[in-house]
Amino acid sequence: MDSQNQQSKRVFKAGEIIMRQGTKGDCAYIIEDGVVEIFIERPGGKTQKVGTRGAGSIIGEMAIVDDAPRTATVKAIKDCKMLEITREDFSRRLKSSDPVLQMISQVILTRYRDTLTRAEILGEGSTYPPPEMLEHDYVAQTDVVESIKIANEFQAALQNNELQLYYQPIVNLQSGNVVGFEALMRWFHPEKGFISPGVFIPIAEKNGLIVEASRWALGESCRALKRIESRIGREENLYMSVNFSSTDFASENFLDHVYRILSESDVPAKQIKLEITERLLIQQPDNAKEMLELCREAGMRIAIDDFGTGYSSLSYLYYFPIGVLKIDQSFVRAMKKEDKSRELVRSIIGLGKNMNMSIIAEGVEELDEARILQSMGCDAAQGYYFAKPLPEKDVIELLRGWNPAKLTA
Ligand code: C2E
Ligand code: CA
Ligand code: CA
Repeated sequence: MDSQNQQSKRVFKAGEIIMRQGTKGDCAYIIEDGVVEIFIERPGGKTQKVGTRGAGSIIGEMAIVDDAPRTATVKAIKDCKMLEITREDFSRRLKSSDPVLQMISQVILTRYRDTLTRAEILGEGSTYPPPEMLEHDYVAQTDVVESIKIANEFQAALQNNELQLYYQPIVNLQSGNVVGFEALMRWFHPEKGFISPGVFIPIAEKNGLIVEASRWALGESCRALKRIESRIGREENLYMSVNFSSTDFASENFLDHVYRILSESDVPAKQIKLEITERLLIQQPDNAKEMLELCREAGMRIAIDDFGTGYSSLSYLYYFPIGVLKIDQSFVRAMKKEDKSRELVRSIIGLGKNMNMSIIAEGVEELDEARILQSMGCDAAQGYYFAKPLPEKDVIELLRGWNPAKLTA
């Protein structure tokens, strides 16, 4: 079974249990041949028959929506040939479909699950579901509807130039100089005002719109880098760090697009860092490794974002061609409060250094934090202490008046 096509054929003999009520399932089946019986197991060993299904039916379909336990038991009553559809395969297919189609499928499927849950509660002779449950369902539904709206509006925003990039300076902790920027997306909605990337990025990642958004961000930030360099007269020694998601690396012609954007904007690859969060990288290792290696060969550097928050095994640090570790701001925040956290940050810096990576600390808000990091050998830092993410014109002004002594002030 390859990762691109996770459908496989299964055979169940007459009498065999295909799925058991209460157990977790991660796939649905299409019955190609044979007959199954579906029944609910009640307390005290009683069973209640729900029905039989034959060729052409789908069973266990809720498992491709969420990982709640199976709601019924299914037994083969004649030898069955099945086509198995895994949740992973289903969500991969859904992700590559039109965003509206995706969202509507999610609403229908969630509502279906909701109806099943209610029917089950009512069927057991109890009263109506408790109000907090209805409330929860209502919130979940409105969340989905809100996501659809945001997805649609984000698509329009991409076309109508409602998106902007802000640039947060990254400061070398030895020299005190600005060495680069992180490009952060901003969406100013004509009616709703500012919408946080914490809201729209996960939605754009889910429905694939992130691919177009990331391409735009890379192009726009490269052009901005050129303009900033020429306005302040520092050629080719600043870098631009751009956030990407794993969907980007898996997208068609990703590298061709990146090369084209770099050559059109005339920015050398060595001035570009690609940031990807630890969490997202781990979700799609095969494709990501190959792409990241090609990016590194082309001269770009790969930065692991939010380091320390996403995964329990460190072996991926060897597996992927990582050049930069970005220590998550939660560690920086905790550092001043607890000795343990400080030691943890020291260990992360040591680990990265031993692996020839450069280390950037995120979310530095106070001089004390910057000094501690500096004393531990951390290479660079970004955070409100130095500067917030700023629009291009403010960045130029900031750089013109930059005082490297900010670190010793
Ligand atoms: P991130 O990549 O970890 O970006 C750093 C976030 O920390 C930014 O939030 C930044 O404004 C904030 N920050 C920087 N310094 C400080 C500080 O000293 N204190 C505190 N409390 N916060 C600080 P922002 O801009 O709201 O972005 C949130 C997240 O949205 C980003 O986290 C990133 O994961 C995502 N994001 C933003 N722009 C893009 C983009 O263009 N593409 C992708 N894929 N994701 C993006
Ligand atoms: Ca980032
Ligand atoms: Ca981060």
